[in-house]
Order: sequence, then structure tokens, then C-alpha cells
Amino acid sequence: MGIKGREIVDMDVNGLVNLLNKALADEWLAYYQYWIGARVVKGPMRGAVVVELEEHAGDELRHAGMLVDRIMQLGGTPILKPEDWYKLTNCGYDAPEDPSIESILKQNIKGEQCAIDAYNNLLKLTMHKDLITYNIILEIVRDEVEHEDDLQTLLDDLEMH
Ligand code: FE
Ligand code: FE
Ligand code: MG
Repeated sequence: MGIKGREIVDMDVNGLVNLLNKALADEWLAYYQYWIGARVVKGPMRGAVVVELEEHAGDELRHAGMLVDRIMQLGGTPILKPEDWYKLTNCGYDAPEDPSIESILKQNIKGEQCAIDAYNNLLKLTMHKDLITYNIILEIVRDEVEHEDDLQTLLDDLEMH
């Protein structure tokens, strides 16, 4: 951990690390929800939906890596046990028990909306306080906004079918 890099963080570092770990829990659960959803989903336009779900799964996994890198820079410990995903998550996990495209899209839209709120709160908290984390979160939330929009577009197309 770089001393100067940590010194320029003008906020409680342990509290920030805890919030980044909560986001990390969300990313892993979102990753799995997309990844398994892409494999069980059924219905019309399945092909296009699978491509989108798999792409989003890859993005969520990349976000998890970005969060871990920042947690390590801050001298924190990233979540080491999967059981902590459920303890720390903001947005939870919706099992795709109904494999219809509509149900899976709606579950994932709900997840993205929760993620956007959680990251927007983190943006407000880190603005003017920790610009490095702020920038990382900004990059992530830009993806989440795109994810919500992509899924909503698919759902709108489905409803016009
Ligand atoms: Fe994400
Ligand atoms: Fe997302
Ligand atoms: Mg997309």
C-alpha cells in the first residue's frame, strides 16, 4: 500500500473499504445472476437475450476486479469468503426460478436499478474526498446505466412482439 496514495484520501478509509466490499458483493451476485440466467433463459428472441446477459456478466466480473484493486490500494482486505456476499450485499440476489425472458429481464433490471442507486450514493460520498475511487465508481456506474437501458430495450421489444 502506498503511503501517499492513502494519505490523499480525505475520508474514513475503513468505512470506504467497507462500502467498496458491499459493492463487491453486489457485483459477484450480479455476475452469477446474469451468468446462470444466460444458461436457463427460455422464450422468443432467446439468442439476442443470451448475448446481452453474457456480455453483462462479463462486465460485472470486470467491475468486481476494479473494486478489489482499489480495496487493495487502500490497504483493505477484499471479501475472501463467498458467504460474505450475502452478508454484505446491497441489492441481493434474484434466482431465475422462472426462466421466461420477461421474468429474467425484469429481475436484472431491478438489480441494475439498485446498483445505480448504490453507486450514485458512493459517488456523492467520494466526490471531492477521494477522486481516484470516484473515477472508478463513475466508470462502473456508466456501465450499469447502459445495462439498465439495454435490458429495458429488450423488454420493450418483447412486449411489442
Ligand atoms: Fe457492475
Ligand atoms: Fe450491471
Ligand atoms: Mg449491454
